[in-house]
Amino acid sequence: MTSQEYIDIAEEALLHTYNRYQIVLDRGEGVYLYDTDGKRYLDFAAGIAVFALGYKNEGYNEALIQQINKLIHTSNLYYNVPAVEAAVKIKKASGMDRVFFTNSGTEAIEGAIKLARKYAYQKDNTTDHEIIAMQHSFHGRSLGALSVTGNVKYQEAFKPLIGGVKFAEFNDLDSVKEQITEKTCAIILETVQGEGGIYPAEKEFLQGVRELCDKRDIILILDEIQCGMGRTGTMFAWQQYGVKPDIMTVAKALGCGIPVGAFVAVERVAKAMQPGDHGTTYGGNPLACAAVNRVFELFEEGNIIEHVNEVSGYLEEKLEEMIKKYDIVKTRRGKGLMQGLELTIPAQDIILKALQKGLILITAGQNIIRLVPPLIITKEHIEEMAEILNQVFELKMMEMEK
Ligand SMILES: *Cc1c(COP(=O)(O)O)cnc(C)c1O
Repeated sequence: MTSQEYIDIAEEALLHTYNRYQIVLDRGEGVYLYDTDGKRYLDFAAGIAVFALGYKNEGYNEALIQQINKLIHTSNLYYNVPAVEAAVKIKKASGMDRVFFTNSGTEAIEGAIKLARKYAYQKDNTTDHEIIAMQHSFHGRSLGALSVTGNVKYQEAFKPLIGGVKFAEFNDLDSVKEQITEKTCAIILETVQGEGGIYPAEKEFLQGVRELCDKRDIILILDEIQCGMGRTGTMFAWQQYGVKPDIMTVAKALGCGIPVGAFVAVERVAKAMQPGDHGTTYGGNPLACAAVNRVFELFEEGNIIEHVNEVSGYLEEKLEEMIKKYDIVKTRRGKGLMQGLELTIPAQDIILKALQKGLILITAGQNIIRLVPPLIITKEHIEEMAEILNQVFELKMMEMEK
């Protein structure tokens, strides 16, 4: 079948919750993807910041094959070796104490919210605690995660959401202070806002939030689902800020393609959860955790984080050149291999043109091109990306002059 035939069937069979790009991806190798017509694409999206280690990674695939042949699933009624090992690796990388594995980022957020509420409940036996979240944040689409997602457009039709959620301005400490009451049990934010447009937290802001939390025994939840796992140049982005969260959520690149997430807590908070308080059938199953284990091993063997720090400056340089060259390119934001290029025009047409030329990019908000490539990209790949994107900008400028 041709790509178009698959697309036609898909549009009849799948719930129409996405306006998809008109390609059918079929296989991948390194940082390249191929569609069902055999066309090659340089991938600067990595399945939305997921496939950090690149496609058809032999070490990764082999670990999964071995685990498939051994044991895929057991439930959480028993222990399994990959989950034990994966939890220990996450503890070591984060300096935090206890891990709960989930199937997605959204579920990690749900768990984090529940843990924060339980912690507060144990302190005062009341149930009307409040959570402060940030405007323009993104934490997921389930009703709990949606409730702390600062985007009215996503929320409106699905109200009522969970109660007791207030919103503050990201990177504005005073606006957070204004929302704090006796009832505040948690503050949740992305260390680097992803969907909202690639906005890193400012150091003074995050440190200020940490101080507010310390003073009032409020739980700080840092969402590292997109910015975590080495993407910004440290294993977790908060490790660059001199702060530590009480609860952290991870997913996306944690499994590098196998659906797995986790919420991770420090002991003081973690011990609020008791048997029966939370659960999952699939979460932390042997296959998912074998992926997590191998990901951590491959990060270490391949010095992935060092590599991110080596190449990300070059990416920034290439993007800065575009700002100088084209009026429609306004500014750049981000850390490491999580970059946003803000345009003065909607990004969608640029992304479609790039796709035609064999470059996969995604947006983060209307006017922002998001670059979240596999972490194994080299200078040569960055050059190839820049060449295509420059061509696209030139084409667009010519169109606009007509
Ligand atoms: C993607 C994302 C989520 C949701 O994760 P899913 O795995 O899609 O459920 C939550 N928070 C952030 C910051 C994300 O980028």
